[in-house]
Amino acid sequence: MNSGVESPRRVTLIPGDGIGPEVVAAAARVIAAAGAPIEWDSVRAGREVFAEGNATGVSAGAIESLKRTGVCLKGPLETPIGHGGKSANVTLRKLFETYGNTRPVRELPGIVTPFSGRGIDFVVVRENVEDLYAGIEHMQTATVAQCLKLVSEKGCEKISRLAFEVALAEGRRSVTCVTKANIMKLTEGLLKRTFERVASDYPDIEPRYMLVDNCAHQLVRQPEAFDVLVTTNMNGDILSDLASGLVGGLGVAPGANIGQDLAMFEAVHGTAPDIAGRDLANPTAMLLSAVMMLRHLRLFEAADRVEGAVLLTLERGPRTGDIAGKGERAGTRGFTDAVIGNLGKAPSVWKPRAYRPLHLPEVAMGPDTSPAERMRPVGADVFVDSSLSPTALGEDIAALVAGLPIKLKMISNRGTVVYPLTGTPTDCVDHWRCRFVPREAGATFTDDMLIETLRRLAPTHRFMHIEKLCDVDGQRGYALAQGEE
Ligand code: NAP
Repeated sequence: MNSGVESPRRVTLIPGDGIGPEVVAAAARVIAAAGAPIEWDSVRAGREVFAEGNATGVSAGAIESLKRTGVCLKGPLETPIGHGGKSANVTLRKLFETYGNTRPVRELPGIVTPFSGRGIDFVVVRENVEDLYAGIEHMQTATVAQCLKLVSEKGCEKISRLAFEVALAEGRRSVTCVTKANIMKLTEGLLKRTFERVASDYPDIEPRYMLVDNCAHQLVRQPEAFDVLVTTNMNGDILSDLASGLVGGLGVAPGANIGQDLAMFEAVHGTAPDIAGRDLANPTAMLLSAVMMLRHLRLFEAADRVEGAVLLTLERGPRTGDIAGKGERAGTRGFTDAVIGNLGKAPSVWKPRAYRPLHLPEVAMGPDTSPAERMRPVGADVFVDSSLSPTALGEDIAALVAGLPIKLKMISNRGTVVYPLTGTPTDCVDHWRCRFVPREAGATFTDDMLIETLRRLAPTHRFMHIEKLCDVDGQRGYALAQGEE
């Protein structure tokens, strides 16, 4: 039994911006009415904190509280547009290393969609802090921008283990690893390879693999075939929004950001400024996020009570305007009153899952140790900004490094070899990758070789980016250009 005897759990509450305070208040009211032993620690983040000149949008009080409680129910936060401010949502996820985003996607009673009756019931587990969303961007030339896609083995291990643990906690049978490993063999491939390794620790769960483009297709064709999906940050961002569209959209999609030190529960939607303060917002997504929070706190009985009441209210109505049928329309408060009135009852078609406590994967914090001996330098890519033709640039650079123990192997433009000429019509931009390798086959490419190459190039060619090419554990640790042999 979970109710009645527990000592209260302190939870950080961030009301948020726009419709945030309305839907968060709805969740707090329902949780209190359900008798869950929660004490709120209400703190500030978002618009008013930015307005005070705090560039993170997260107050010091909020950070202190999150450190103390480790659990948070959060309303949406407005992202300042136009003056370079970072999203306070992303700041919170990164500061507390909430590496996993989980979003359950289930057919809900009373919400009619083109997929109703198919029994959709899966969870998207998305890596939440790495990948292209690490936000490491640079203008390479005046007209060419670059974003680094950083994927770590440790990040892949944490997210893969979390996905399998979610499967165990929810009694699910399979986890599908979704990547674009056919094209990005090193970054996306790292998730696939790590997932394969981790899967052997979970023999009762079937590991599956799917390319992300096919996954988008299959999610629309047969969404009921999925159980748990695990994927990199940007893939997961897109797929999870697609998935919430299958079952009723933003107003009903809950989510959690999970890390070792903080679990933060929030609706998928944003601040919806057009309906803020008008008693129009649907609090379902926030209420279902609160249900996830109660389960995280192991208050399983309270979670089932709230979930049953929300689903019964969706089934019977009255529902909020975004999902209401003809002639029925409740405001945020009216819908919340109806949920409270339904506590202790359950919908006719709902079969609750037998949830077990989620066991968080144990992966050591701190820097990875990757001994330098595993990396053997075999070349370097030097990116230069030039308005010469490929042939003129290639001949000029080859002449500049003549006499050195290294040679220009090729030049590519946006990944395709353009020097030596291939004869195909590549539309070039002012961003050229010059690949240098030792003249002597099998020799190591030393830092002295790289420094001397740069010294020769610098007077006539602006270089802006250098990548060392290494073999890692004897395997090529870099991609070949299109057309390179
Ligand atoms: P949004 O706030 O999710 O709203 C998009 C539209 O979806 C709303 O205009 C509204 O449409 C509908 N909607 C969303 N939630 C609803 C609810 N609970 N009940 C009823 N309708 C709902 O997306 P956005 O307009 O792109 O973003 C607005 C702000 O929120 C931005 O500053 C953004 O950065 C921020 N944001 C924050 C988070 C977060 O804190 N996690 C997430 C996403 C966005 P109708 O026009 O049909 O009323």
